[in-house]
Amino acid sequence: MSGHLETVVKLQDALGALRQAESQLAGVPGWMEELHAEHSARRAEIEAVEADAEEARRVRRQAESASRDAEDRLAHFQQQVSRVRTQREYSALLQEIDTVKAEIKALEEEALGALERYDNAQAALEEQRAAFADLDQRYAEAQAKWEGEKPEVEQQATALRGQIEDLRNLLPRGVVALFERIYERRDGDATAALMQSEGGGAAGNPWHCSACNYRVRLQVVTDIRLQGKLIHCDGCKRILYVSDEA
Ligand SMILES: [Zn+2]
Repeated sequence: MSGHLETVVKLQDALGALRQAESQLAGVPGWMEELHAEHSARRAEIEAVEADAEEARRVRRQAESASRDAEDRLAHFQQQVSRVRTQREYSALLQEIDTVKAEIKALEEEALGALERYDNAQAALEEQRAAFADLDQRYAEAQAKWEGEKPEVEQQATALRGQIEDLRNLLPRGVVALFERIYERRDGDATAALMQSEGGGAAGNPWHCSACNYRVRLQVVTDIRLQGKLIHCDGCKRILYVSDEA
């Protein structure tokens, strides 16, 4: 490999490494991903139960308050019993009293149900929090470790940005524009290594693009290898190169 092609391949590598470093800095590094996912999931579970307990408490308060209002109405109706004059008024009042008594009973049951739900949620929370403590501790340690590593990754990212700038400056503007167009269209992957399949492939030509498997003529491989020509894959348009291992 020589000339612009070598620079293009280095540029692709540097951009890939920078992307990886930036994704770590924006989130968590690979070694922490599993722990991070588990920690987030357990915490979300606890928060859901906390919300359920809070909702149960709200329902209970509301039912108790409504029940007190109903008790007041019942007392009011009961005071009226001695004052009614007609049988019809009396029947109507008894009807009211029965209705409000049924209402109170339903509200008391609702409050009791909510209390039970609250107690269950609290018991579950106690268990979940105890189980979470160990995970939380491990997570805090991992976070501290990651905080310690971060400056180095930041330094790497800074170095890579400088390297990318230098590599870009080594290339003619047209090549940079071309590279960027493919880089964007191919989701951050502007180059593809040529691969040699076992057994020579069809028509005795073993070479193909590693990204899209498109077959590549032997002459093309030779031009790339010996002259470092910038040649696109006919299949995916990526810039082809022969890796040192091939
Ligand atoms: Zn291809």
